[in-house]
Amino acid sequence: MNYIVFDLEWNQCPDGKEHELRDLPFEILEIGAIKLNSEKIETDRFHEYIRPTVYLRLHSKTQEIVHIDPETLESADFFPAVLERFRKWCGPDAHYCTWGSLDLLELQRNIRYHKLPGFFPFPLKFYDIQKIFSLTFEDGKSRRTLEHAVDMLHIKKNVPFHEALSDAYYTAAVMRFLPEDTLLSYYSIDYFRIPQRRNEEIYETFENYSKYVSKKFPSRTAVMKDRVVRSTTCYVCGKKAVKKIPWFTGGSKNYRCLSYCEEHGWLKGKIRIKKTEDDKSYFCVKTLKLISEERAQEIITRYKERTEKKRDL
Ligand SMILES: [Zn+2]
Repeated sequence: MNYIVFDLEWNQCPDGKEHELRDLPFEILEIGAIKLNSEKIETDRFHEYIRPTVYLRLHSKTQEIVHIDPETLESADFFPAVLERFRKWCGPDAHYCTWGSLDLLELQRNIRYHKLPGFFPFPLKFYDIQKIFSLTFEDGKSRRTLEHAVDMLHIKKNVPFHEALSDAYYTAAVMRFLPEDTLLSYYSIDYFRIPQRRNEEIYETFENYSKYVSKKFPSRTAVMKDRVVRSTTCYVCGKKAVKKIPWFTGGSKNYRCLSYCEEHGWLKGKIRIKKTEDDKSYFCVKTLKLISEERAQEIITRYKERTEKKRDL
């Protein structure tokens, strides 16, 4: 097994958003990657520039952040050739690691745009080091810049940021500070490709919660009408937990519910409805989490207050 820690630099339409290609908002210009063995020791590096074919001038923002001169790009290979070398270099048993989830999204968009064969397994699990950094050192919700993490951990800043290879190098350096069990248990699931059918739906159980990714639906209402989406099965014993509070929306866009498993107690449910990458359909991510009696009572009280307020109106 290898960890592939990678980072991309990309360009966007220099003439403004209204002129961009819907299927390719960001064109990749550079791939940098560090290969680590299971002990997180560096064993190899990958670094290539890509000759653009869609946006031929650099957007002013790209110029500002990314330091690539146009001649370097002109003498580089086109995306399909570079990608093929990258794919071979990654090898079959790669665990992908990135700072945030954007790099995997844009890589897959570029692959699709060039009509190249699939690269990744389904479902695609990956390690979002930005998220796991937050879970380890901060509140789990904040999302910091790579440089913030590097400063906090006193990692030596001997190469510039916003170059694909050095950002991959720093991401790998941050990764070494993350406890092995946290890293391995908090993997993310990529939502670029979502389940097309019921039998492709994703079920993952983590240490203290479970996650379900539904197939796609034509509307938000259709998502919430679905029996499988609404079900609350205890992720410890696999038995149906009885609903004590039905799915409801609070102030946020999320749905919540509360169920009770005879054996394992209170189960808090949350459904986030998301738009698919093409903006045409909807799917949902449902998480179920066992919570304490105290926490459950809080939720029940809040729910009662809400429904009483509604009745008074
Ligand atoms: Zn149970």
